[in-house]
Amino acid sequence: MQLACPACAATYQVPDALIGGGRQMQCVRCGEAWFATAPSHTETPASPPVAPAVPRTAPPAHTLPSEPAIAAPIGGSRRLALAWSASIIVWLGGLYALWHARLALAEAWPPIARPYAALGLE
Ligand SMILES: [Zn+2]
Repeated sequence: MQLACPACAATYQVPDALIGGGRQMQCVRCGEAWFATAPSHTETPASPPVAPAVPRTAPPAHTLPSEPAIAAPIGGSRRLALAWSASIIVWLGGLYALWHARLALAEAWPPIARPYAALGLE
């Protein structure tokens, strides 16, 4: 802890263990003698209320990571819907291409006209 001389304000860095509950000090500069008490002893009753405040702030921190976990399935279902619509578009495109090329296909390979006729697409 840091001690200051009450007379000349000279500061001294003194280990807390040296002060203990209180210790007679003498300033080297001005010779002033005073009884120094460790301020850490008066602060100790105040520090326990600080300790429970740390777990109190912890639960909000735990709720924050859970929010992206909830948002993840929403993103997944959106991606699944996108994949479904994309595959439907690909299927419809393929069916349209088969229907559009039916005359050219039948001309190049006549047996292909039979399934088209069966489907009523001739
Ligand atoms: Zn002094």
